Amino acid sequence: MTVVFLSLGSNMGDKLAYLNQAIQALSEIPQTQLVNVSSFYQTVAWGKTDQDDFVNAAVELETNLEALEVLRECQQIEKDLDRVRHEHWGPRTIDIDILLYGKETFNMPDLKVPHPYMTERAFVLVPLAELTENVMIPNTGQTVLEALSRLSHEDVVKI
Ligand code: ATP
Ligand code: CA
Ligand code: CA
Repeated sequence: MTVVFLSLGSNMGDKLAYLNQAIQALSEIPQTQLVNVSSFYQTVAWGKTDQDDFVNAAVELETNLEALEVLRECQQIEKDLDRVRHEHWGPRTIDIDILLYGKETFNMPDLKVPHPYMTERAFVLVPLAELTENVMIPNTGQTVLEALSRLSHEDVVKI
């Protein structure tokens, strides 16, 4: 079994409902157990800032699936929850990103792990730190807590 951490975000429609539906769907992925879910956080949009606030959370899975299979499952859940890709970093009903897949790293066009921006995003690291503070983020030489300590996170508010 491989321990996988995901980041979830929604900033359209009934955001809490989309997150809850995504978590329910994640719990139904084959060969996979949903181990833990963080609190939900209201966060200010990052990168493309002229859009509605997000609700973000982190999820821990244990899986026998390959990383690309986990990605496909997450993308299918996004599709099922009416996600339409309009613009890069634009509004979405649900976004599911793979943050960590065990201690492994991937650098493929479709899958980069650890997630390339995770150490720059308090909205990713605050929920993740609830689930795992001391895990090392491959390629960074930092634990989750160390990476988080370099960021300001007053815009990440527990719901
Ligand atoms: P960001 O990746 O900066 O958070 P985004 O989540 O808005 O941006 P998407 O449009 O959801 O980007 O995804 C673009 C592509 O990213 C997807 O087609 C997917 O194959 C790829 N991708 C690469 N690495 C990952 C990963 N670790 N988790 C999820 N998708 C990834
Ligand atoms: Ca994302
Ligand atoms: Ca994504």
